[in-house]
Amino acid sequence: MTYRRIAVVGAGIGGLTAAVGLARRGARCVVFERHRGIPEDGTGIQISPNAAAGLYGLGLEAAFATAVRPAGREIRRWRDDTVLGRTDLTRHEVPYFTMRRAALVRALLDAVRREQGPDAVRFGRRCIGVRDEGDHVLVGFEDGTVTTADLVIGADGLRSAVGGAFRPDPPRYSGHVACRAVLPMEAARGLAEPDRVVVWLGPDRHCVAYPIDGGRYLNLVVTTPADQPTAASTVVSAASLLGEYRGWHPAVRGLIGLARQLGRWPLYDRAPAPAPWRGRVALIGDAAHPMLPFLAQGAAQAIEDAVALAGCLHRPDGPGRFAAERLPRVRRVAEASHAGLRAYHLPDGTEQRRRDRAMTAARPEALDWLYGSPVRV
Ligand SMILES: Cc1cc2nc3c(=O)[nH]c(=O)nc-3n(C[C@H](O)[C@H](O)[C@H](O)COP(=O)(O)OP(=O)(O)OC[C@H]3O[C@@H](n4cnc5c(N)ncnc54)[C@H](O)[C@@H]3O)c2cc1C
Repeated sequence: MTYRRIAVVGAGIGGLTAAVGLARRGARCVVFERHRGIPEDGTGIQISPNAAAGLYGLGLEAAFATAVRPAGREIRRWRDDTVLGRTDLTRHEVPYFTMRRAALVRALLDAVRREQGPDAVRFGRRCIGVRDEGDHVLVGFEDGTVTTADLVIGADGLRSAVGGAFRPDPPRYSGHVACRAVLPMEAARGLAEPDRVVVWLGPDRHCVAYPIDGGRYLNLVVTTPADQPTAASTVVSAASLLGEYRGWHPAVRGLIGLARQLGRWPLYDRAPAPAPWRGRVALIGDAAHPMLPFLAQGAAQAIEDAVALAGCLHRPDGPGRFAAERLPRVRRVAEASHAGLRAYHLPDGTEQRRRDRAMTAARPEALDWLYGSPVRV
């Protein structure tokens, strides 16, 4: 199948990666983004080897210029900082990266402009819906304009307007919010590790810290239960979070105290779209399968989707092939991420001790299914 006019809706990590992937397959596209520019989200992101491999495959190694390659990840106990489990993050062919989210998006945007043309990304264009007419698809925008395309790729995130056409069920609120802040590493010395990801698990809550920006800053994520979802990106004071983290180890409390104010993100997920590419409309990333961030895989799976979709583009069985390649994978990752909602937050007791013993005994290859090929020696 040849698609001459492809519209990508959403200039997030998924949509921009798709635009580069399409260029590699000789396909032109235009990306429509609702915001007037790339939002300056100052927080960090973990890009695991399975996703980094996709970006390497597109020749985007330079995107990681300021990223950190953490040596490992430690799971620790909330009250006494005991290390419960360690994962070696260097055992894969492609590195595990932690970095500033905006640095990745900027590198992707530059690549899209290079590969698809300087005007390929159109800002200030909010899509309000699509209609598949069989031999073409109409894309409507809030400003009243309509674009015609041969294929629309919905990469417009959790509340996808493109996906609205075939995903009437609303996203599922998890009952938890994530509070995020970036701290100077210098200030966090003695509380955090400059060379690894640390996750503290405790009753109803967990906390994650990892280095970004070549190790000069620390990204902090502090989760709390909340009956009602707050609006995305509202702030919470460290003082109020410290009230929720009473009794936690001084390292965790110290990091929260350093943050002063943290941005809040309510956490949602939703069962993966059963047919992510139907007719002339395909969904990728959070538009197709928003997942809880407990395995740090939402953006990683968006990247995997984008690469797979580009690979299926010219195949006559493209939609079926894309679903067959992606659905079993995203279902498994989404389920494993959802399981963290309970497993990470167990109250102290028998079940928590069983979980901790399993973490201590986990084999080095336990996450190879997720991260991909280990380094061959
Ligand atoms: C606290 C937290 C921590 C996380 N940490 C990680 C991590 O470490 N690693 C990881 O892999 N994932 C992580 N994730 C998940 C990750 O952020 C998302 O899964 C990822 O951003 C999804 O990318 P996307 O491109 O599909 O969607 P988005 O990033 O949501 O991008 C969608 C884009 O579409 C635009 N858009 C939306 N609606 C419209 C419209 N109607 N018209 C035009 N444009 C539109 C948006 O403005 C946006 O630019 C985390 C999530 C949270 C909440």
